[in-house]
Amino acid sequence: MSVTPADPRALSLNTATVKVRWDLARMIDGCARHGIRGISPWRDKLAELGVGEAARRIRAAGLTVTGLCRGGMFPAADEAGRRAAIDDNRRAIDDAAELGAQCLVLVVGGMPAGSKDLAGARAQVRDGIAAVLPHARAAGVPLAIEPLHPMYAADRACVNTLGQALDLCDALDPGGAGVHARAAADGGAWAPAAVLGVALDVYHVWWDPDLDAQVARAGAARLHAFHVCDWLVPTRDLLEDRGMMGDGVIDLRRLRGLVEAAGYRGLHECEIFSSRDWWQRDPDEVLATMKARHAAHC
Ligand code: ZN
Repeated sequence: MSVTPADPRALSLNTATVKVRWDLARMIDGCARHGIRGISPWRDKLAELGVGEAARRIRAAGLTVTGLCRGGMFPAADEAGRRAAIDDNRRAIDDAAELGAQCLVLVVGGMPAGSKDLAGARAQVRDGIAAVLPHARAAGVPLAIEPLHPMYAADRACVNTLGQALDLCDALDPGGAGVHARAAADGGAWAPAAVLGVALDVYHVWWDPDLDAQVARAGAARLHAFHVCDWLVPTRDLLEDRGMMGDGVIDLRRLRGLVEAAGYRGLHECEIFSSRDWWQRDPDEVLATMKARHAAHC
């Protein structure tokens, strides 16, 4: 499969990439300055600025909100904890609606502290998503389950493959697979279709031997977001050692071709957790590098 280089207008900034040295207001200004057309804020940064003010500034800058990070974290040791998680997810859905976000990303959560019951945690995730789905539907906010690499199964997300995420989608939102994506030629005008879908992050799924078939299965209806970075060899930290596009072993252009062949027309969100390297650098340098690497490798 030969894939032409990515449209430079398709780049979006996930705020985790520059979270150490910039607040959200500076991130919004930075995107405008660098000609980056999308942004995906994390809720800690959103809380600092306030969702209303953030929405106003993002709109004024003309940015597409490719997602809000994040909801999820459903499993808890007791009923009160599970209720609190559901309430928090409903608030996140409201924030995503106010921002006009294309989806709320769900990092579903791992096992409660002290538990060894992985199947139980997965059942709690299914029940938690089912509990918030009506609120998402009413608010018009698609939910995007992000499968995480299995190394995070215990503490961050017990949904670990795209196939597993799509099984949840099909079980909880059986009509969603048949919905036609509101795809437009211009990436900015694209919007997810089904209320329940997935956020496909190359970092988490690149290794999966079943990836091609599962991306095709997801189709445009269920592909709500596409996150890019790279997998470094060696990886020195389980959470905070992601690579800039081109510095690792992921065939990013092939994966972009894969999601586009399935009908995805949304932006490409650059999300890099990098405590030793990129978080230490001048964010303007990070954004400039992001743009160049996106053009060269995505
Ligand atoms: Zn991601």
